[in-house]
This record gives sequence, structure tokens and C-alpha cells, in this order.
Amino acid sequence: MGATARISNGVCLDVDPAGCERLVLDQIKAMGQTTRLGKGPRSVLVLGASGGYGLSARIVSAFGIGAPTLGVSLERAPCEKRGGSPGWYSNIAFDTAAKQAGIKAVTLQGDAFSEATKDQVVQVAREHQFEPFDLVIYSLASPVRTDPETGVMHRTTIKPIGQPAVALSLNLATGQLKQSTLAPATEEEIAGTIKVMGGEDWKLWISKLHEAGLLAPGVKTVAFSYIGPALSRDIYRSGTLGRAKEHLEATAHELTSLLKSSMGVACVAVCKAVVTRASAVIPAMPLYIAALFRVMKDMGLHEDCFAQINRLFRERLYTDGDILVDSEGRIRIDDWELRDDVQKKVLEIYKIVNNENVWEVTDFDGYQHDFLALHGLKG
Ligand code: NAD
Repeated sequence: MGATARISNGVCLDVDPAGCERLVLDQIKAMGQTTRLGKGPRSVLVLGASGGYGLSARIVSAFGIGAPTLGVSLERAPCEKRGGSPGWYSNIAFDTAAKQAGIKAVTLQGDAFSEATKDQVVQVAREHQFEPFDLVIYSLASPVRTDPETGVMHRTTIKPIGQPAVALSLNLATGQLKQSTLAPATEEEIAGTIKVMGGEDWKLWISKLHEAGLLAPGVKTVAFSYIGPALSRDIYRSGTLGRAKEHLEATAHELTSLLKSSMGVACVAVCKAVVTRASAVIPAMPLYIAALFRVMKDMGLHEDCFAQINRLFRERLYTDGDILVDSEGRIRIDDWELRDDVQKKVLEIYKIVNNENVWEVTDFDGYQHDFLALHGLKG
């Protein structure tokens, strides 16, 4: 079995607008099938609102509690020669559904790393009379960032640090496995990845909104991190991306100090591995996710972006007590992924997986279905 869509290096080149819309409507429907949130935010800014965790956070805020949302993302509009990017259509679907439901929603298209977009958000929030935000979701995943001060463009590099690492990657079209060795990152590559995926831009956003008086007393701001198991440690947590996540996590503490006077809090939520456009290009992640899905589905523990965010809101961010965090102050909703019994079973799959049995012993079918669905396509 194989996909007919054009897929190259974890990137799908085909997009079906109607399918992208369906994906948003499915999440809104799933929200409608759960009980309404008892508590939640009243005014929400989502940075990275068009896909993955950011889109789910926007849907849960809007359709779980009726909160007005301002969403920012960087997506490609369709033109004569080419269709738009999936998030372009997801934004339209979200805006249309919110309008029909009478929920305020404003969507901006722009480079969230730039000063111009930050200024625009401040202006638009005032023009559209958003209450000061009491929830700011930071969910950007990007290959590049231009530093607004220096004008230098920095790049995300996904590599191990200190020594080479072997990665077993999965061809998303054919399911063929390939072993490759990744060379260790240079100091420049490490620094570049921290610049793009670390906490510097999150801090610029929160400082800007704070100075503009656009943060409500008791505001919560949440950015997403990943830790993962020993299996992916060389490539992820001990690699360049892990360094950036450490920086992001340290930034949360700085931001909490900044927000202290308004009783606000900045948190990092460590999420589980899911199929998104960002995770599809990380070497070794697709195979790991396919194995993880097999195990978590069999154990009745499977969660996608929507389920993770729904649990984040209900069981971590908006409870009667304090926000439950680990010893380093991080919210953990990767708790089920990292359970010993789950990881033990994932390791058992890794011991036997090969090109002949990958469809059978992992949930590559499910992975491929979700990956194509991100682009509006059916597996
Ligand atoms: P995604 O690719 O689904 O979404 C990324 C979003 O960022 C999109 O809305 C995109 O438009 C936006 N974006 C990218 N560059 C932008 C820019 N310059 N300006 C404005 N918007 C921009 O990614 P995702 O997987 O949901 O990742 C979101 C966060 O969650 C990341 O920090 C990621 O590390 C984290 N996370 C992901 C996983 C996973 O398995 N996918 C697990 C744990 C944590």
C-alpha cells in the first residue's frame, strides 16, 4: 500500500482545500461532543494558529468556552499557478465556523517573528476591541527566523550534538525504512536553532503585549515543548531542537517574573508526539510516532492534538487548584506517552520492525492517514 499524493522528505506537495476545511470542522465537532468547559479563557491570542497544537488551542478556546480569538500564522495564499498551503484553508474554515457560531475571531497573516506583525496585532486587538488577553498561546514551529534587531536570518537545524547519531527514517509515501547517520551540529547550527525555536521571540511578544496593556491580570501564556523517550534522545532532546526547548523552558521562568505584578504566569506544556507538518520533517520521528500510535491505540491511550489540548485546558490550565507542574515547573501532558509500559512496548516494536512488517507492527497506516489529512487528502 502507498500514498498517491506527492510527498518528498516529509513534505506533501498536494493540498485539497475541502479536506483541510473538513479537518477543522471535525475538531469543532469533537469539541461539541465533549462537555462544555466549566472554566476557560475569555480573550485569547494564538501565535501559530493555523495548524497542529495552535489550531487545536484556538478551537478549544473558541468552541469549548466561546472565547474571542485572535490568530496569527504564516501561510501561503493560493495564486494562479499554485494552491495555498493547508493552513490557509484551515484559517478560512475556522473563521467561517466561528462567524456562524457567533464567536468573535480575527485571523492575521504575517511573520510572527517580525516587529511589524507584533505592531499589527496590538493595533488589531484595539480596533476589534479585544479584552486584554488572558491566554496567549505560543505555538510557532518554523525553519527560519529573521532577527528583528539585526536583520540576520537564522535557521533551524535538526542534528545531534557532540557526536553523530543514527536515525531510522520512514518514507511517508512508501513506508520504506532507511537508516542514516546525522553528523553533529556546529556551534553556529546550535545557536541558529535556539534563535528560531527557543524563547527569544516569545519574550518579545509578551513584553510587547505587556507594554501595550494588552495582558489581563492573571494572564496565562503557554508555549509547547517536547522531551520524548531515550529512543529519540540523540536526535531530539540532546540535539539542537532539545537545546532550543531548554531555552524556551528557561524563558518561561523569566516571563513569569515579568508577569508577577499582574499575577500572570508563563508555562511550558510538554506535549506528546503527534502528526503535524512540523514533526513530519524531524528524522526518526515518523517511525517513532507510528510505533507509539500502535501501542497507545491498542492500550486505549491514543491522543491527537485536539485530545491533548482538551486535556491541557481541563486538567491542567483551568482547574480549581494550582496548575500541576513537574519539578522543573513544566506542565506534563506527555505523561501517557512516557509511561514505562508504553515505552516498553514501543521498544519491542523497534526490535522487530523491518521493511516487510512495518505496516503490520506499527500504525503506519494511521500515521499516513493523519499526515495526508493534514493536507486535506485521504489515505
Ligand atoms: P505545525 O507545523 O502544525 O504549526 C506551526 C504553526 O506555526 C503554523 O500555524 C504556522 O503557520 C506557524 N508559523 C510558522 N512560522 C511562522 C511565522 N514566521 N509567523 C507566523 N506563524 C508561523 O507545528 P506543531 O507541531 O503544532 O508545533 C507547534 C509547537 O508544538 C512547536 O513548538 C513544537 O515544537 C511543539 N510540539 C510539537 C509536537 C509534535 O509532535 N508535533 C510535540 C510536542 C511539542
